[in-house]
Amino acid sequence: MIPDEVIDRVREATDIVEVIGQSVALKRSGANFKGLCPFHQEKTPSFTVHAGKQIYRCFGCGAGGNVFNFLMQRQGLGFVEAVKQLAQRAGIALPEDGQDAAEAQEKSRHRERLLDLLDQAAAWYRRQLKETPEANEARLYASQRGLGEESQEAFRLGYAPRDAGTLIRAAAAKGWDESLLMEAGLLSKGEDGRIYARFRSRLLYPICNPAGRVVGFGGRLLGPGEPKYLNSPETPVFSKGSLLYALPQARDAIMRRRQALLVEGYMDALACHQAGLPFAVATLGTALGEAHAKLLKRYADEVALVYDSDAAGVAAARRGSEVLLAAGLSVKVLSVPGAKDPDEFLKARGRQAFEQALAQALSAPAFFVQSSLSQMGGLDKADLHARAGILQGLFPLLALFPTAVEADGHLREAARALGFPAESAAADFASYKALPRVKREEAKKKAAETAPAAPAAAPPGSAAPPQREGVPAKPLGRVRPDALAKVERPDLVAEARASLEQPEFSEPAREEAAQLLWRHPGQAVMQIQMEQDAGDAARALLLDLAMEQPHYPHAEAALPLLVARLRQERLRIRKAEVDQELRQGGEPQAQAERLALAGSLALEINKLDRRIKSGQ
Ligand SMILES: [Zn+2]
Repeated sequence: MIPDEVIDRVREATDIVEVIGQSVALKRSGANFKGLCPFHQEKTPSFTVHAGKQIYRCFGCGAGGNVFNFLMQRQGLGFVEAVKQLAQRAGIALPEDGQDAAEAQEKSRHRERLLDLLDQAAAWYRRQLKETPEANEARLYASQRGLGEESQEAFRLGYAPRDAGTLIRAAAAKGWDESLLMEAGLLSKGEDGRIYARFRSRLLYPICNPAGRVVGFGGRLLGPGEPKYLNSPETPVFSKGSLLYALPQARDAIMRRRQALLVEGYMDALACHQAGLPFAVATLGTALGEAHAKLLKRYADEVALVYDSDAAGVAAARRGSEVLLAAGLSVKVLSVPGAKDPDEFLKARGRQAFEQALAQALSAPAFFVQSSLSQMGGLDKADLHARAGILQGLFPLLALFPTAVEADGHLREAARALGFPAESAAADFASYKALPRVKREEAKKKAAETAPAAPAAAPPGSAAPPQREGVPAKPLGRVRPDALAKVERPDLVAEARASLEQPEFSEPAREEAAQLLWRHPGQAVMQIQMEQDAGDAARALLLDLAMEQPHYPHAEAALPLLVARLRQERLRIRKAEVDQELRQGGEPQAQAERLALAGSLALEINKLDRRIKSGQ
């Protein structure tokens, strides 16, 4: 048996669009991808892959599921083989025999304990910020940066007390395991063997994994000292290279816009969210890497990089652009004129000015031509050799564009900006592309060395936002098993319970779907539909439900939705009957009544539609 934790990791490390794209030609269609269904014969595509939810669905034949289902259906594999195949692809080791499986199970339980502890610690730090007199300075700092109570709550901002003993005493009182605290990176052992708290006298920004669970912290020092910013160390659950600050909070907005805003610091990301730009995320004081780009690619088509306009910022933007372009994302670079960072810009000029700057943001190549030129003092001051150097330096970037027309278009623009004829620029680019790969790598290195921007490391992030517990959007995370008992809307649960008695559920597939949900509180619908004993019709029903929601819904959220959907169906049948009667005609009084009835039925159907679509 493969532990759930490993299955989750395999799924998180796999992009369904890539996997399906290997055997099905997919085309972007809004937030989804479409293609000809591999499971039935068709001429117009009804096969949809949902990148955000990582599921697929065919509206022609009803095939559907997650990436495991796809391999099972497509290659006739069993579940375990499908997991194995994808684990291998993602480089994740699977337990081999019974003993390893037990070990892996224990590891998975251990990880869960670690995450639980981090969550409790975040709540404890939060209380320190809200309640202790000592945190006054931290509260002042947050409010001076314009962070309202709501943002602080939503991002779970906290405070780490000055006295290293406070956390240790609290841990003892709460029965937290000291070695677990050390593993979580909250306590460390000094050279003298003494235990001390890693974060002291700092405003804390909890950092969450894409599933919304707290995995670490970023801390900003209050008062004098070094370092100003300190992150959690790398732990079994915290890895800077594959985490983005504010991603769980930003994901929906990013998916809606198909665009992400990438800023440098925690505080910048928070400022954007607070100002009504909820699609902002930040790296954790590290350079943007391949794993970050892959993560963003799941939700966005385009990333707007916001970097400081100094030399280090330009160099970081250049590297970031290359990583993003290589991952198949389109890139814009935005500098915030007259401000040192987005936070400052937003405070001085507001959201609209920011949106405007974003709308006018340059493509990556245009940005580098412009910033190189301005560092040389403008086109007039740059001599022929220097301008040729700028153009040469652009080639490695242009070569990353997926299509020749895009590369050519950017090349033409660059040539014009640099005062060169498009034809000779194209000839130079053609000879660059003809170089063997090794030579191209050399040219790329040379371009990086001679680029006017300084190759300084990206400055560490500013402040990071925490996140509120129990927010409905806990997309991939697991609700605890007793969740059904304490769902926030007991009325919905009662309604669902009553509905199990209703005639709608007399049809076996529906009853089965409802029963499946009922029996698996706390589990994601996507998981439930894979239950071995689930019938095809019930599975299809649950899949539809999952597809319609902004997140993977859990059983307790999906059950009332299923009820709403079935009730809606019944109303639709009734409305069709009334419409039919209307068409047949009759005496005016009866017709008027039918008209009114049809109207109120339509209203009710729409209301349920909104409820289902919003997931409430
Ligand atoms: Zn199909």
